[in-house]
Amino acid sequence: MISANLGNIQMVDLQAQYLRIKPEIDQAILEVVASSQFIGGPAVQRFQQSLASYLGVKHVIPCANGTDALQIALMALGLQPGDEVIVPAFTYVATAEVIALLQLRPVMVDVEPNTFNVTADIIEKAITPKTKAIVPVHLFGQSADMESIMKVAGKHGLYVVEDNAQSMGADFTFSDGSSKKAGTIGHIGTTSFFPSKNLGCYGDGGALMTNDDALAAQLRMIANHGQSKRYYHEMVGVNSRLDAIQAAILDVKLQYLDEYNSARQKAASYYDKAFGAIAELKIPSRQNNSTHVFHQYTLQVLNGKRDELLAHLTEKGIPSGVYYPVPLYKQNAFSTYYSGEPLPITEILCQSVISLPMHSEMDEELLGYIADTVTHFFATN
Ligand SMILES: *Cc1c(COP(=O)(O)O)cnc(C)c1O
Repeated sequence: MISANLGNIQMVDLQAQYLRIKPEIDQAILEVVASSQFIGGPAVQRFQQSLASYLGVKHVIPCANGTDALQIALMALGLQPGDEVIVPAFTYVATAEVIALLQLRPVMVDVEPNTFNVTADIIEKAITPKTKAIVPVHLFGQSADMESIMKVAGKHGLYVVEDNAQSMGADFTFSDGSSKKAGTIGHIGTTSFFPSKNLGCYGDGGALMTNDDALAAQLRMIANHGQSKRYYHEMVGVNSRLDAIQAAILDVKLQYLDEYNSARQKAASYYDKAFGAIAELKIPSRQNNSTHVFHQYTLQVLNGKRDELLAHLTEKGIPSGVYYPVPLYKQNAFSTYYSGEPLPITEILCQSVISLPMHSEMDEELLGYIADTVTHFFATN
């Protein structure tokens, strides 16, 4: 294993990951360049088939990024301006942004304090006659409880679009013992291949997943200028494509996704062991109905010293992240959608969470250094 460079610790070490598979990646890129099929073509075809078969889903529609994927999904549902879409307030901005962009109304709801995910109960309380869709986010690496969310959606006739940008490869287990990949359970799933995601490319990329043939056709058409056949446009669409070079890279990296996710799980277990006995910290909970692929390893600092810990880590050369520091309804961009009632769990999480370096290339030297630094902080604070 490549030894950790303690002088240059990264949140995500993309370079070490590349170096391990460099010959395969380089060859895949060169093949696309040699073929000069930069848009569409066999590399994109191959990857969408590989991902569909990995996920066990009927259709994968590649697109330009995860934000576009969410936008295209919502455009396919035939919603009307002012229709309400339920979304967690504790998520990345993209999830709510596209709702507002399409003149729909984002209705932001709280999350469950242990998993950071929305639940069916929370969602059901926010349903009104204007609600048309739900966008659960599988945050940090675990699937939201899709079984109960689909039940509530079915009862109220709502669409479900899963934002699976952070949980690629996670398995959700239903109460009958069967399981499905996160992102393949709702009417549409969306994902991002941003470089730091669990399955990341070397630029921007995204995809939509669905088992519904009619929706798949609609999504493909919207992503391609609303075009049914060349130069015939059924509706106003967008231009959102996955580059052939990115598709070729992703097709190589998909073969390593399970390995990458288990390396993340191993690093998470190391952190758990190091931090489990520190009273001021809460280690990430594991759901029993979803595997955790640790897009982020997120601790809750219970003694109010999150920002001091962050400063201490920075001083010791350890990067860390606060995902997310501000509830979405308190962002200026979303002030018109704020009811004026803060969501208690979201408020607490924004004050207390901190994410540590987490990627597929962590070795014991690096983990040991980070664990010692955190432990030392709480021994003296
Ligand atoms: C990364 C991310 C997105 C957006 O993906 P991009 O490819 O950056 O557009 C959307 N939702 C969540 C939860 C994300 O983490």
